[in-house]
Amino acid sequence: MSPAVASFDLEARLLRANALLKGHFQLTSGRHSDRYVQCALLLAQPKEAEAACIALADKLADTRPELVIGPALGGILVAHEVARRLGTPCFFAERKDGPMQLRRGFAIKPGARVLVVEDVVTTGGSVQEVADLVATAGGNVVGLGSLLLRGAASPFKLRYECLLHLPIDSWEPAECPLCKQGRTAIKPGSRPGK
Ligand SMILES: [Zn+2]
Repeated sequence: MSPAVASFDLEARLLRANALLKGHFQLTSGRHSDRYVQCALLLAQPKEAEAACIALADKLADTRPELVIGPALGGILVAHEVARRLGTPCFFAERKDGPMQLRRGFAIKPGARVLVVEDVVTTGGSVQEVADLVATAGGNVVGLGSLLLRGAASPFKLRYECLLHLPIDSWEPAECPLCKQGRTAIKPGSRPGK
């Protein structure tokens, strides 16, 4: 195993990978923000994905999981790298006609200690849904984790760890201070490579 990371600077790594942009952005919701994160651009670099997931896995290692699960798509890669670090199998849950499901022969042993991880948590909806799915299947959810937390605080009752808390600051366009400065909001991710 690689040595544990005492302090892992995810923000610096996101900036270096152009996965965290500062400026004036129009989000999918239509609201404006001064920051935009595209975690996939960090995870696109396997060494960066590995390093971040080692740091997250080490924060949750004391939960002694026997299985790591992530919600598709964003959570799959994170779950896989965290599972590699912790020496467990890795499953993923995916949406089929609405709710999250375990497909592809993924079966949870009754009482199995399970960690649920994701790349980015905002409202925590997908992670909670997977945790509920695991519990319904008879598993014991021992912890939750994500690389990044973009909500104001952890939305979970269960133990939760993240590497970086970067709450979204956003405004309706009419209230946006950057618009008031006469700057034009851009839609990130609307063009490949932009
Ligand atoms: Zn604006």
